[in-house]
Amino acid sequence: MTGFDPDQISLPKANNFIGGRRVEGRGSAIIVRRPSDGRVQAELDSVDADQLAEAVEDGQAAYKKSGWAQTDPRGRMKILRHWADLIEADAAKLAPLEALGSTRTINEINAWDLSYTAETIRFFAEWADKFGGEVAATTPDKLGLTIAEPYGVVAAIAPWNLPLVMAGWKIAPAIAAGNCVVLKPSEMTPFSIVRLAELAIEAGLPAGVFNIVQGDGRSVGDPLVRRPEVAKVTFTGSTATGAAIMTACAQTGPKPVTLELGGKSPQIVFADATVDKAAALVARAITLNAGQVCVAGSRLLVQDKVADQVIDRILTAFTAHRAGPTWATDTTLGPIISEGQLDRIDGIVKRAITAGAEVLAGGGRATAPQEGSYFAPTLLTNVAQKSEAVQGEIFGPVLTVQTFTDEDEAYALANDSAYGLAAGVHTGDLNRALRATRSLEAGTVWVNRYGRSNDFILPTGGYKQSGIGKDLGREAYMANLKTKTALIEF
Ligand code: NAD
Repeated sequence: MTGFDPDQISLPKANNFIGGRRVEGRGSAIIVRRPSDGRVQAELDSVDADQLAEAVEDGQAAYKKSGWAQTDPRGRMKILRHWADLIEADAAKLAPLEALGSTRTINEINAWDLSYTAETIRFFAEWADKFGGEVAATTPDKLGLTIAEPYGVVAAIAPWNLPLVMAGWKIAPAIAAGNCVVLKPSEMTPFSIVRLAELAIEAGLPAGVFNIVQGDGRSVGDPLVRRPEVAKVTFTGSTATGAAIMTACAQTGPKPVTLELGGKSPQIVFADATVDKAAALVARAITLNAGQVCVAGSRLLVQDKVADQVIDRILTAFTAHRAGPTWATDTTLGPIISEGQLDRIDGIVKRAITAGAEVLAGGGRATAPQEGSYFAPTLLTNVAQKSEAVQGEIFGPVLTVQTFTDEDEAYALANDSAYGLAAGVHTGDLNRALRATRSLEAGTVWVNRYGRSNDFILPTGGYKQSGIGKDLGREAYMANLKTKTALIEF
C-alpha cells in the first residue's frame, strides 16, 4: 500500500527564508538525495556569504526594529499558538515533504512528528508571559530587580535525524522569549522546514524573526556561528561538531552555547522486570527511526538470569520489521540517511565480528522492496566493553548485548562511556529504580519506559560528552534570556 507518490512532490527552487520570504541561494548547489531510494531529490541552493550576512543582519533588524522583543508577551503567545495550529492543519502538504526528504516514515510523521512539533511551539508560547524577571532586593528607599531580556539574534543549527522536531526544539523557546532566529538545517534534510517558516508568516510572525539559511557546515554553519551579530548559539548534532562550534563561539565571543550531542545509551534489564514489556521497549528503542535517534538505546545490559528470555523476545521483534520507503504505510523500518552512513554502520559491525562478536540477528543490509540504504536490526553479543561497538555511537539499528550478575556491575558497565545522554532501567523494584536513577550518569533516566512523553516541561539534554544545557522544559526557555540587574534608589 502506498502512502503517497514521491514523484508527485515538486520542490520550490528557492529554499532560503530571509526577510519573510523564500530567497534563492546564490552559493554552491548541493545534491540532495531521497534517503528511501537514493534518487536525486533536488539541488539545494546554498546561501553565499553576502546572503548569510543579509540573513543575520535581517534578524538583527527584526529584533531591533520590528520590536519582536518588545511585543506584548501575550501577542507573541497568540502568534505562536496560531503557528502551531497552522502546522497541524497543513499535514497533507507538510507530512509528505518531511517523509520524502528524511528517514521518518509517513506513519510516524502523521502520528507524532507534526503534532509534537506543534505542541513544542504551544508549550513555549505559554512561557512568553511567565517570566520577566524578579524583585531581588528591596528596602524602603531602594528597589532591586532582575529583568529577563532576550539575547537578540540566536543561531540555531539542526541535524537531519528528525528535521522538524529537532528544529522545533531550537526555534520555539528562542522566538517565544523574544529572540530572532537564523536557522541552518542539515544540508541532507533542508526542505520541510521552509514550509514551516511560510506558515509562521501566515500566523503573523513579523518578517525577519525567523530566517533560514541553507548550506553545509563548513561554508554556512561555521560562518553563521562566527557572525558578530549572533549573540547565542544552539546546536544539535554530533559531539565532534559540537566541540568545533564551541571553539568558534569562544573565538568570536565568547558566546553562550547550548549543545545537544551524541549518545550511547544503556538499557538495563533486571531479572525482576516484566520481561515482555522490557524486551519490547528495548527492541523499539533501537529500531525507531532505524536507530538514528540521539537517545537510541544501543547497549543492552541484561541480568544473566533472564538474558535468554529477553534476547529471544528481542529477536522476535526484530524479525517482525518490514524495511521500506518512508512513503509506504506498511514500512516499519525506514532507510538509513545515506549510503555513506550505511557503509559506516556496516564497517563498525564488520570490525566487531572480526574482533569476535557473534551476530544473533541482522549483521548487514536489510531486504527491502526496492533499492536503497536499509540496515537490518542487528544484535551483537560477545562484545568487549572497550570495543568500538560498545563505546562508539553507531547511529543505526545495532544493539550490543552484555550480561551482568549484580546491580553494581550493571551501573559500572552503564557508566563506562564517554557519553551520558539517556538510560533505560527495567525493574519491578521501586527501591532499585530509585537507586538506579541516582547511580546512572545520564541526563535522562527512564524507568519501565523508554523515550520521550509529551511532558514538555521535562528538559532533555546530556551529561558528559552528550552536551551542555537543555532543550525543552523551563531550562530551555530560560537559556534564551539573559539577566539584567537593576538597582533603583530614590
Ligand atoms: P552533524 O554534527 O554532522 O551535523 C549537525 C549540523 O551541524 C548540520 O546542520 C551540519 O551541517 C552542521 N555543521 C557541521 N559542521 C559544522 C561546523 N563546523 N559549524 C557549524 N555547523 C556545522 O550531526 P548529524 O549527522 O546531522 O546528526 C546526527 C548527530 O546528532 C548524532 O551524533 C546524534 O546523536 C546527534 N543528535 C543529538 C540530539 C540530542 O538531543 N542530544 C538529538 C538529535 C541528534
